[in-house]
Amino acid sequence: MVKKEITSAAKLKKELEEAKAELVSRNKKLKLSVKTEAKKKVDKKKEETKKKVEAKKKVEEAKKKEEEAKKKEEEAKITQEEIWEEQLTEEEIIGFQIDKTDMDKLVNRITEMIAGYETKGILQNILWRKLKLSSRDGSRLALKLEKLGNITREKILENGRWTYLLLIKKIPISTKSIENAPCLVCPVEGKCSTDGETSPKTCVYIEDWVLTELKTKKRHETN
Ligand code: SF4
Repeated sequence: MVKKEITSAAKLKKELEEAKAELVSRNKKLKLSVKTEAKKKVDKKKEETKKKVEAKKKVEEAKKKEEEAKKKEEEAKITQEEIWEEQLTEEEIIGFQIDKTDMDKLVNRITEMIAGYETKGILQNILWRKLKLSSRDGSRLALKLEKLGNITREKILENGRWTYLLLIKKIPISTKSIENAPCLVCPVEGKCSTDGETSPKTCVYIEDWVLTELKTKKRHETN
C-alpha cells in the first residue's frame, strides 16, 4: 500500500515537473514572439522615418537646385541700367530730364537723401518708392547722379533680383544752409574779421543764428 502511494507521488511529481517545463518553454516562446513583434514594429518605424527623411532631403535638394538655377539665370541677366550705359552717351545720361521738373533741385534733393544714409547707402527701388518716381526715371536719375560724380552705384542681388545700392560720394553744397545768415545783411561786415574788434568770435547775431539753425536741424531729425 505504502509502495503504491510512493509510486503515485513520484508520478505526480514527474507530471508536475513536465507541466512546469512546458510552461517555461511556452513562456519563452511567447516572450520571443513578443520581442520579435516589437522589433519588427521598431524596424518598420525606422524604415518609415528613413524614407520620410530621404523624401524630405530629395525635396530640399530639388528646391536648392531650382534656386541655384534661378540665381544663375538672374546673374546672367543684363540690367536695364547696363543696357542704357551701353546705348547712351555720357552727355545723354547727364542731360536726362523729367517733364515739368526742376532737375537741379531734384538732383540736389536725391543726393542729400542718399547722403543721409551715409556709408550704408540705400537700395534704389526703396528710394524711388519714397520719392514716388517710376523705376525707369529713378534708374536714369541714378545713372545721371553717378556720372555727375555725386554717388556710386553697387550692383547687388536682392531677393534673387539685380538692383543697385546707392552710396554718397559728394555732398552738394546747398545755399539753403546760409540763406538766413546775419552776415549777408550785416552793416559792419566789411570791418568784421576773426582777429578784429568786430569778430564772429564775439558776435551775438552769429551766435543766435547758429543756435537757431541747430534747433531747427534737431527738430527736423526728430520728425
Ligand atoms: S559775424 Fe556778426 S559782425 Fe561779423 S559779419 Fe557776421 S553778423 Fe556781422
